[in-house]
Amino acid sequence: MNFKLDEKYKNVLKGIPAAPGVYIANAFLYKKEVESVSKEQITDVEQAIKSLDEAIEKSKSELKKIFGLAVDKLGEKRAAIFEAQIMILDDPYLLDTIHSRIRKEKIQPEFIVDDEISKYQKLMIDSNESYMKERSHDIEDIKNRIIRNIRKKKWISKIKNEVVVVTNNITPADTVLFSRVNVKGYVTDTGGLTSHAAIVARSLKLPAVLGVHDASTIINENDELIIDGYHGYVIVNPTHEQRNFYLEKMERLSIYNEELSKLRDLPAETIDGRKIIIRGNLDLSEELILMFENGAEGIGLVRTEQLFDGLNHFPDEEEQYQIYSDLAEKIYPEKVIIRAFDIGGDKVLPLDVKEPNPFLGWRGIRFLLDNTDLFKTQIKAVLRASTHKNIKFMIPMVTSLKEIKTFKEYVAECKTELKTNNISFDENISLGIMVEVPSAVIMASEFAKEVDFFSIGTNDLIQYILAVDRGNEIVNSLYQEFHPAIVRTLFHLIDNAKSGGAKVSICGEMAADPLAVPLLVGLGMDSISVSAASVPTVKKIVRSIKYSDVENLAKQCLKYSSEEQIRTALTQFFEKNVTDNTERIFQTKN
Ligand code: PEP
Ligand code: MG
Repeated sequence: MNFKLDEKYKNVLKGIPAAPGVYIANAFLYKKEVESVSKEQITDVEQAIKSLDEAIEKSKSELKKIFGLAVDKLGEKRAAIFEAQIMILDDPYLLDTIHSRIRKEKIQPEFIVDDEISKYQKLMIDSNESYMKERSHDIEDIKNRIIRNIRKKKWISKIKNEVVVVTNNITPADTVLFSRVNVKGYVTDTGGLTSHAAIVARSLKLPAVLGVHDASTIINENDELIIDGYHGYVIVNPTHEQRNFYLEKMERLSIYNEELSKLRDLPAETIDGRKIIIRGNLDLSEELILMFENGAEGIGLVRTEQLFDGLNHFPDEEEQYQIYSDLAEKIYPEKVIIRAFDIGGDKVLPLDVKEPNPFLGWRGIRFLLDNTDLFKTQIKAVLRASTHKNIKFMIPMVTSLKEIKTFKEYVAECKTELKTNNISFDENISLGIMVEVPSAVIMASEFAKEVDFFSIGTNDLIQYILAVDRGNEIVNSLYQEFHPAIVRTLFHLIDNAKSGGAKVSICGEMAADPLAVPLLVGLGMDSISVSAASVPTVKKIVRSIKYSDVENLAKQCLKYSSEEQIRTALTQFFEKNVTDNTERIFQTKN
């Protein structure tokens, strides 16, 4: 059976995999009542103020209950979002304004509450930061809660059976409350990874697929749903085949997760004692929590262009400094590898530039070297944040020695500027390059002498070596991480980096493929960076192999001349040596 989810089946919806996990349950359509308000005049002002005050007290006690529940389920730190909501309800300025407007305008309190709290909300919606925009939903929640309480309405009815909640948007409070009543997952039309609902769902260990656009119109009440929070799939009324595939997967997952959670504080070390550093890739600041939870030993790649996604201007030095130093501080004493903006390719250029071949165009270091002010702003922000001496800095899409040398000159210039202004930084900050194009592979021995480290970006390296667009479905089957040319390239890179005195690590998605991990370790890779969710899996595999075995496996793979031979060898090795549920857990094929 070759079961491919997204291509063959029409009943698969795709959204953002916001919280991992898999579940099968019926849909519960949660249509949030938006309380409509009107500018109705009132006659009894004192009565209106009394019912407003009661509603505020009731809302506070509801939120306190939710807060208590959240502390139990999520811990103090993450429960703080509800404390913040309680604080808004305690804000004397807001309450005074609402009171005096009711007295003066003699309009029903619901309208004034809506109007005043909407002002807060508008400020957040108008903000350029996607984080703030998403926080505005929390404010919407407070507004609706007070109005609902003025009208003395109750929160939704009891849910008896296990359900997956399908809704347009979900608030963190709803997420916590639902978790008490047999809810096994969340599917929403809007919202992203940074929404609190996503963060809360991850902490509650309930799968969430967010941003599915029209999920709440396509899905009907009681439809059977499979929610796959690892891949962002929602399968509506699954076929027999889809159902069985997932049932089996869930069985493996439960045993597997149990085993993984025991590894958090154990080292990633092979049976015969070879230590591998496993770090996490970070696209959003919120992922840091997951890095800690999953036992990552630092951050192996910060995609800075993603961190500031949502701003419609380039972040200035101060904005960048704040974020980088916050990351460095929180991850200390572990290391964080910050990558300079990788703009271009599939990450849209901010300027109004259309290119015929963006992946071969104005991308990464090329763009940065043509926009020196912007580049130097980033370099200075990174240097300023480096005072704990745990930041490493690297550039993407390097193709020539000249690019590396110019980069180093800019770093030197920025250091001088900072020194002149008495601003401290790490004088010996490690500088590195992403290795992701063939010319960098061929020049590896020279490049290694110029930099402190290589980070191999297989996502791009594979596409450029095999001339296969990484985002083009039509040629997807030709995008082969186990192509002999790729395996030999990795060997060459590791060898040349080490003999040239540069450290080497990998941060492409290949490293998160369970089959690839023994090969990478066997090829001599001693540092691996994957998305935070994959860290425990990689660690588990490393701990179940012997370096001497995978060294032989790698040698064998280097002799093969076809992808099939390599894949077969890796699969056989896996089945023989990693004897548990790891295999295929994260794959959508069987
Ligand atoms: C890569 O190319 O492997 C990589 C990690 O960078 P990105 O996916 O951001 O291009
Ligand atoms: Mg890349």
